Amino acid sequence: MQGVSIVGGSVAGFLAAREIASKGIDVTVYEEHREIGIPEKCDGLVSSSGMSELGLVPPSSVIQNALTKCRFFSPSMKEVDIDARKQNVVVLDRSRFDKYLAEEASRAGAKIEVGKRVSSYSQTQDRASLKIESDEISSEILLDCSGYESYIRGGGATLQGAQYIVYGKWFEKSTVEVYVDPKDAPGFFKWVIPLSSDIAKIGVAGNGINSFGVMDSFVKEKGAQAFRKAAAPVIASGTVKNFVEGRIARAGDSAGQAKPTSGGGIYTGGFGGMLAGRAAAKATKSKDIGALKEYESGWKGEFGEEFKLQLYARNTFAKMDAKQLDQLIEMIAASDVPKKISEEGDFDRHSIAILKAFGISNLFSVLGVVVSNEIKSLVKS
Ligand SMILES: Cc1cc2nc3c(=O)[nH]c(=O)nc-3n(C[C@H](O)[C@H](O)[C@H](O)COP(=O)(O)OP(=O)(O)OC[C@H]3O[C@@H](n4cnc5c(N)ncnc54)[C@H](O)[C@@H]3O)c2cc1C
Repeated sequence: MQGVSIVGGSVAGFLAAREIASKGIDVTVYEEHREIGIPEKCDGLVSSSGMSELGLVPPSSVIQNALTKCRFFSPSMKEVDIDARKQNVVVLDRSRFDKYLAEEASRAGAKIEVGKRVSSYSQTQDRASLKIESDEISSEILLDCSGYESYIRGGGATLQGAQYIVYGKWFEKSTVEVYVDPKDAPGFFKWVIPLSSDIAKIGVAGNGINSFGVMDSFVKEKGAQAFRKAAAPVIASGTVKNFVEGRIARAGDSAGQAKPTSGGGIYTGGFGGMLAGRAAAKATKSKDIGALKEYESGWKGEFGEEFKLQLYARNTFAKMDAKQLDQLIEMIAASDVPKKISEEGDFDRHSIAILKAFGISNLFSVLGVVVSNEIKSLVKS
């Protein structure tokens, strides 16, 4: 029987595998696709500080661009800019990034099996087992790092999303664009992430939308050309209730560890994989399966309150109509909030920016939005 089996060869799975293998425990990652990082369904926007917290230094061949500004557009195209120079945001080639993670896990001693789809898994008192075709493989612990399909099976809800790569001339090389509009992207937004002065990753997510239809119209409106179109469910509804059940734990998107405000999950889900790996190593070495729970309390201690506030902000924002969103962007643009976010904001912890925006005097009475006392007290503190 092997030490740990991991389902899914990507951010959460490889970071978990690196941690486990580096403690001398045998671990195998099973990835259904024949090539790591393919197909790619992610824009790869991360902060350099987030990467360091994960113990990663992505090589220059993985970094596609550096970004210094974020420009928000309201439904009637009112604008507000946030200077993001202090946040050191970079765009990763997500496919190459996954290969780099696989290399790191391999160097630590992990085994990787590609082209192996896990069809089911289960556990008994003394082992966890998974099935690949007619083979059954048993291990002390099993980590489910298999992404959004597992999240949906666990009861999580996703937004319809699409990601395109385009040629276009309307954006600036180092400025991310975010378009909030309840017509095209109800409950979420459209985005533009430049790779150069004329190539960008663009996308949309929203409740119940025809994401290809929305993107095709956007491409036409901007006079752009699409090279690649991918459908991609976005996770922004918060985590599943429990990450750990006996000998089995979920980490990354499988546990819903993507930021509710943006759907970004490389850092927060990678953190989940890293902590799950450390706890799995401890539980295997000590033969105390209860130690696996340390992962859940560790992740929730780090991000539980952050995700709660992000979810609250997203749900509040999702209820606003076009007029309210116009007013919101106008009020933010006229305030000192952009300056404060530029100076104090954290790309990986949006609560700082949310509380700054919620702190604008009379914001909610002007917008006609009801806010809970709990949030009011957080804004004041
Ligand atoms: C359009 C889009 C854009 C995004 N942009 C960003 C961004 O800019 N920044 C950011 O931080 N996050 C972004 N995200 C989110 C980010 O991609 C995820 O949060 C992150 O990839 C989660 O990593 P993971 O390892 O948990 O899951 P995944 O990356 O989904 O990996 C799961 C792996 O498991 C494999 N697998 C699935 N089922 C099985 C099975 N049964 N057997 C074997 N293998 C299996 C899959 O093939 C896959 O390789 C974006 C998401 C989308 C949809």
